[in-house]
Amino acid sequence: MDKLVFGTAGIPIITSPRDYQTAFDVLEELNLGGMEVEFVRGVNMNPQTMTLVKRISKEKNLVLTAHGPYFINLNAEEPEKIEASKKRILDTARAANNFGGYSITFHAGFYLKQDKETVYRQIHSQMAKIIETAEKESLDVWIRPETTGKGTQWGDLDEIIRLSKEFDKVLPCVDFSHLHARSAGQFNTYDEFASIFEKIGNELGDYALKNFHAHIAGIEYGQKGEKRHLMLGESDFNYKDLMKAFKNFDIKGVIICESPNMEEDAMLLQKTFLNL
Ligand SMILES: [Zn+2]
Repeated sequence: MDKLVFGTAGIPIITSPRDYQTAFDVLEELNLGGMEVEFVRGVNMNPQTMTLVKRISKEKNLVLTAHGPYFINLNAEEPEKIEASKKRILDTARAANNFGGYSITFHAGFYLKQDKETVYRQIHSQMAKIIETAEKESLDVWIRPETTGKGTQWGDLDEIIRLSKEFDKVLPCVDFSHLHARSAGQFNTYDEFASIFEKIGNELGDYALKNFHAHIAGIEYGQKGEKRHLMLGESDFNYKDLMKAFKNFDIKGVIICESPNMEEDAMLLQKTFLNL
């Protein structure tokens, strides 16, 4: 990617009627550069809509990503749940590939009280099968497990980086607010943000910094991690220093804002970034 774009987690709130055509008009009016298509309750876009979404997003030069369903656990006990999880991830990638998307993200699984190494190996072996199918079908999107917001969910920064190292098509989706919540308040200073970019650059190479996919929102958290998303203005999340780090490391890619007032906060992030 040759730029850093800011977008919303789903169709902007003010969009009416709530269709993609209108959503993309709204994004253009607000001067935002992208959107994440939310398949969180299932991958449910029909082929005609995919064609339309692809055409209009290309015309307007919007970067699109997709978020996979919440019902995914590559570490499930039941084999049928693992199969269904792989299918949901692949269906998200297939849809994104068809609507001209750049990247997909999903929450990969739960530890279920098992030790971290066992869970890593299980998720790695399922991911290998997903990538094999994605390559067979020539799906041209980044496949990104997301850094998660709770200690019960697989996916701290090191685990996501480790998995990304093993597959060409896999890169992290760094949800900065999740990292902050998961660690009960860390990952909130310039130096901590810089250390994330340094680690990703060192471990995965510069292309990972030039093809970034991030989530940012205000967030409420406790000892167990994420509680709910907030507006940036009512949370303690230090987005200003995060934008500085994005700037100083010359990050390219897409930042998706998941605040409840997503287009407002996406614009706030963009304005903060552009004023640096
Ligand atoms: Zn997510």
